[in-house]
Amino acid sequence: MAKGKTDWIEKEIRELKKEGLYNEAPTLKSAVSAHVKLNGRPLINFASNNYLGLAADRRIIKAACRAMEKYGVGPAAVRSIAGTSILHKKLEYALAKFKKADRVLTFQSGFVANLATIPALVGEEDVIFSDELNHASIIDGCRLSKATIIRYKHNSPKDLEDKIKESRGFRRSLIISDGVFSMDGDIADLPSLVAIANRYNILIMVDDAHGEGVLGKNGRGIVDHFGLHGKVDIEVGTMSKAFGAVGGMVAGKKIIIEWLTQRARPFLFSSAMTIPDVAACLEAIKILSKSDRLVTKLWENAGYLKDQLSILGFNLGKSETPIVPVIIGDEKKTREFGVRIRRHGIFAMPITYPTVPMGTARIRLMNSAIHSKKDLDQTVQAFAHVGRELKLL
Ligand code: PMP
Repeated sequence: MAKGKTDWIEKEIRELKKEGLYNEAPTLKSAVSAHVKLNGRPLINFASNNYLGLAADRRIIKAACRAMEKYGVGPAAVRSIAGTSILHKKLEYALAKFKKADRVLTFQSGFVANLATIPALVGEEDVIFSDELNHASIIDGCRLSKATIIRYKHNSPKDLEDKIKESRGFRRSLIISDGVFSMDGDIADLPSLVAIANRYNILIMVDDAHGEGVLGKNGRGIVDHFGLHGKVDIEVGTMSKAFGAVGGMVAGKKIIIEWLTQRARPFLFSSAMTIPDVAACLEAIKILSKSDRLVTKLWENAGYLKDQLSILGFNLGKSETPIVPVIIGDEKKTREFGVRIRRHGIFAMPITYPTVPMGTARIRLMNSAIHSKKDLDQTVQAFAHVGRELKLL
């Protein structure tokens, strides 16, 4: 490569490092569980979205191994060209049953499911009404569609309706919201969004990545949580968090899913989920369908941790879910908090600007059903200690 062509990248990277925005993923030398080994040190893990502890559950591992013995590892082609594995069909059927949806189509990840779905439903002549705090994959899916994007105020049905009233001359419209917002742990007011969508005859889509396995009966998700079965046109989800594997899904009316099999480009031009992932997800659905033990434990753990941290005087924002943002405010102090908390054996991510607004930096704790009471108590003690050290309490 000719010298100088990549100088600008070096400069950008130097800039990122200078501003403390350079991203460096720590290396884990263990499975993702309640505890992880990070750079050789055992830590209590609050950084993963392993809500139910299924990422390294023996039953899931065994199911994935059994399936690989029979079906191999990778699909080695696009489903519509080389045939679709019976296992993928089984998973889509099981997911539809579990989520009480008409039909489900799986994708390679939740990110891909958004990139696949949005451009298949709207195009240049259309408009998307999108919550201002929607996930990056929704934002990218919206951009890819070339539709006009109108952002409404976070979780404000009133602002959404005002913006719909102001909009004119578009062919089709789509409302999109995250189900659970991952930085604050608040839940979208889906019943109000659905009522507005019906009033104006607009398609409505929710991305339930953080509600899957967490909200609703036995973790069926946000639609079940609000009893809105059949009323949300498109429900995007991920199996890369609570389900412990990697994969995405879209649940909805038969006609919409059928359309995605014809027009969703990652379905038509990219290989499907891997066999171990599909088998792991099938097992996860089996586990969840049989018992709500893990979901209940997750909420118990989150409730306990929130209570204890609130008693200490920490600001936990408006979380309504097992996502616990401990809001410190100052960017530098939050990063320092992250470093010190790790010395106390806790692995939790400091989240700073620009991921969250300036002045609302936080340590985000992702609860899991497999944390023990001892893990939680150690975490509370560590937060108390560091909180006092940094004069926050
Ligand atoms: N949507 C939302 C709301 C998410 O939080 C995430 C994961 N951070 C995704 C989609 C992407 O899911 P996946 O990891 O399966 O690509």
